[in-house]
Amino acid sequence: MTATIIRNGRVIDPANKRDEIADLYIADEKIAEKSEIRDQKSEIEEIDVRNLIVAPGLIDVHVHLREPGFSHKETIESGARAAAAGGFTTVVCMPNTSPAADNPSTIAWIKDRAAAVACVNVLPTGAISKNLAGEELASIGSLAQAGVVAITDDGHCVQNHEVMRRAVEYARMVGVPVLDHCQDYDLVGNGVVHEGYWSTLLGLPGWPAMGEEAMVMRNVLLAELCDHHIHCQHVTTAGSVRLIREARARGVKISGEVCPHHIALTDEAIQNFDTNYKMNPPLRSQTDVDALLEGIADGTLSVLCSDHAPHADFEKEVEFDAAPFGIIGLETELGLFLDLLVHKHRKIDIGRLIEMYTIESARLLGIDAGTLSAGAKADVTLIDPELEWTVRVDQFQSTSRNSPFDGWKLKGRAVRTIVGGKTVWKL
Ligand SMILES: [Zn+2]
Repeated sequence: MTATIIRNGRVIDPANKRDEIADLYIADEKIAEKSEIRDQKSEIEEIDVRNLIVAPGLIDVHVHLREPGFSHKETIESGARAAAAGGFTTVVCMPNTSPAADNPSTIAWIKDRAAAVACVNVLPTGAISKNLAGEELASIGSLAQAGVVAITDDGHCVQNHEVMRRAVEYARMVGVPVLDHCQDYDLVGNGVVHEGYWSTLLGLPGWPAMGEEAMVMRNVLLAELCDHHIHCQHVTTAGSVRLIREARARGVKISGEVCPHHIALTDEAIQNFDTNYKMNPPLRSQTDVDALLEGIADGTLSVLCSDHAPHADFEKEVEFDAAPFGIIGLETELGLFLDLLVHKHRKIDIGRLIEMYTIESARLLGIDAGTLSAGAKADVTLIDPELEWTVRVDQFQSTSRNSPFDGWKLKGRAVRTIVGGKTVWKL
């Protein structure tokens, strides 16, 4: 038996409503009681973490690890390292790989690969439709059997409401949540930036807020009709926040997540045509950012995540219209959210931030993670909430460098990441 004692930290474990200065005990791969440590005679590692926060290992429910098929952008191994460096012990990867994760053998490949090379827990999602084409349903039952934690066509969106209805009904039958990238293709057309002042001024095709809101509304109606959970991915508009807030108040099983770039930046940032500000959904207006902040503050938006979307330099270094959407996020998201939500705008306290990254995410997916209860797997993140640091993209663990946050000064970051009792990353 190996044991670790993490001494004198501020233990924040929202699942157990704990926030106190205490010691945390780890025996082998699990969180332990103090008595279990005293009883055993083998070597004990002690770490003094005065002034640090001891949190359950953080979970990111929305990342793209790009394998199989696009290992020049990221691999499961490098993506997992980036997650560890960002303070994440569990990541949920999206199915828009090549081949697409729309079948049990691709899921098995991802799980095998992760077991062999990933330093954090990697949980795959399966596609809603075959090849994410939105036409024919993937075999959702077989995907659930293969161990997906959710289904989603992320990057794409099922347009046919009848197909989506059957997907939600199957998902309910096999007990997995539905995650949806909300985008109405007709309304969005070839839009690349938020439809508004800046799209007009710069002459770039607009991606209207309603292109997201129409699908959020569709999902509210389907969640209600099918009595099953639908989670709206990367919510960006004031209208979406309002729709989700109203539906939740009525008891509809609907939820939403927020990515840091959608509150850190507005569409004003696109005026230099830098493709690191091109994402889907796009950066929105200040009014939308304010509504997202209110949605986070009042609990309407319950999950934080990155939408980590690596692309190689040669892919991003093209004209704005032609560049792929998305930015990397695993190594900046905790710093950005701590800096913006907790320190700068004071919208939530650090306990709620940890709750959104742990038990809220675990509850959404129905997974056994996100707590520091005795007997739980020893996934732990140590956080220095006051540490001031500068983002240096060239030092990132990710294979890609597509981030608009290079050079940003942030307050707060993870300083050590522990997975199953083993330190997998340390500042
Ligand atoms: Zn998406």
